[in-house]
Amino acid sequence: MIIQQVVLNSRPGKNGVPVAENFRLEQSTIPDTVREGQVRVRTLYLSVDPYMRCRMNEDTGSDYLLPWQLSEVADGGGVGVVEESKHNNLVKGDFVTYFSWPWQTVAILDGSLLQKVAPQLVNGRLSYFLGAAGLTGLTALLGIREKGHVTAGANQTMVVSGAAGACGSLAGQIGRLEGCSRVVGIAGTDEKCSILVSEMGFDAAINYKKGNVAQQLRELCPDGVDVYFDNVGGDISDTVISQMNQNSHIILCGQISQYNKDVPYPPPLPPDTEKIQKERNITRERFLVLNYMDKQEASVLQLCQWIQEGKLKVRETVVEGLANIGAAFQSMMNGGNIGKQIVSVSK
Ligand code: NAP
Repeated sequence: MIIQQVVLNSRPGKNGVPVAENFRLEQSTIPDTVREGQVRVRTLYLSVDPYMRCRMNEDTGSDYLLPWQLSEVADGGGVGVVEESKHNNLVKGDFVTYFSWPWQTVAILDGSLLQKVAPQLVNGRLSYFLGAAGLTGLTALLGIREKGHVTAGANQTMVVSGAAGACGSLAGQIGRLEGCSRVVGIAGTDEKCSILVSEMGFDAAINYKKGNVAQQLRELCPDGVDVYFDNVGGDISDTVISQMNQNSHIILCGQISQYNKDVPYPPPLPPDTEKIQKERNITRERFLVLNYMDKQEASVLQLCQWIQEGKLKVRETVVEGLANIGAAFQSMMNGGNIGKQIVSVSK
C-alpha cells in the first residue's frame, strides 16, 4: 500500500534554530497484510511539541528521549482510526492514540501499544486527546498537583510563563480551579495576553516583549508569587523567582527559551537567582509527566469533565496536511498561536 510519510531531512545542530526544511515529505509503502496482534490505522491528527527539538539532535541530552534518525520517519503524539484489526481489543472504527505515532498517513502498529479513546468525552474533538485531554493537559494538571502545593483558600498567587502555549494556557486555568486566588500569565504578544484574560480567566497577563516585566509583576502580584509554573526558563524565570515568597514553589515544567542552546536540562540557575531560591527555600524539583502515568486515567477523566462543563477553555490551531508538519513545528518553536498546535492529516 502506498503512503505518505515525513522523515528527518537534516539536523539543525545543537545551537541552531529548527526550520521546516529539516523535514521532508516522501512516498513509501507498507505491507498489504496485517499480522496477528497488529492493526492498520489511518492517521487523523499529529501533535507538534517543544520536546521534539531535542529529538532533532544526535544526542537528545535526555535518557527518556530517543533521537530521530536522518531519513527515517519521525514520530510523536498521534490520534487515528482503526481500519483493520487483528488485535483482540480493537475493531475497525475504533479511535486510538499513541505517543509514538509515526508521521505517516497510514501505518501498521502493534495493537497493544494503542490506547482506545472515546470521542464523546471531548465533545467529538478528537485532537483534544493530543492536547487538553492528552499529555499537555496531564502535564498542566499533574505538574500543579504534584509540585505546586496549591491549597484552596490559602490566597495563593500563581504566575505562568509561556502562558499562551498549550500547557501554559491550561495551567493558569487549572491553577484557578485548584484554588489559587490570583493567576498572572506571561506571554509574547498583546493579542495572546488579551485572550488569556478575556477568555481563559487569567487576572492579568504581561507581554514580556514590551515594557518592564519586573515592574509589571510587582504591580500585578502585590503579595509576591507563591506558585510559579515555569515553561520557559531564562531571564523571564529569573525575574519571576526574584519576586517569589518564602517557602514558595516552582513547577519546573519546561525551559523552552533554552532548547536551541547546548545546555544541560534543567539548565542551572544563574548564581544570584540560585541564592534567592536557596535563601527563600523555594522548591524547584524536576517534573516529568511520564513519571505519573499511574494517575493518567483519573486525570484525563477530570480534564474531560472540566472541558465538558466549560470550565477549561481550549484553544488549538489546526494546520491541514502532513506536508505542512515541518512548518507547523517551526511556527510552534517560534511562539506559534495561542494554545495547542495540531496537524490534521486526513484532509
Ligand atoms: P507551546 O505550545 O509551544 O508553548 C510554549 C510557549 O512558550 C509559546 O506560547 C511561546 O509563545 C512561549 N515561548 C517560546 N519561546 C519562548 C522564549 N524564548 N521565551 C519566552 N517564551 C517563549 O509548548 P507547550 O507544549 O505548551 O510546552 C510548554 C513547555 O512545557 C515546554 O518547555 C515543554 O518542553 C514543556 N513540557 C514539559 C513536560 C513535562 O513532562 N515536564 C511535558 C510537556 C511539555 P510566546 O513567546 O509568544 O509567549
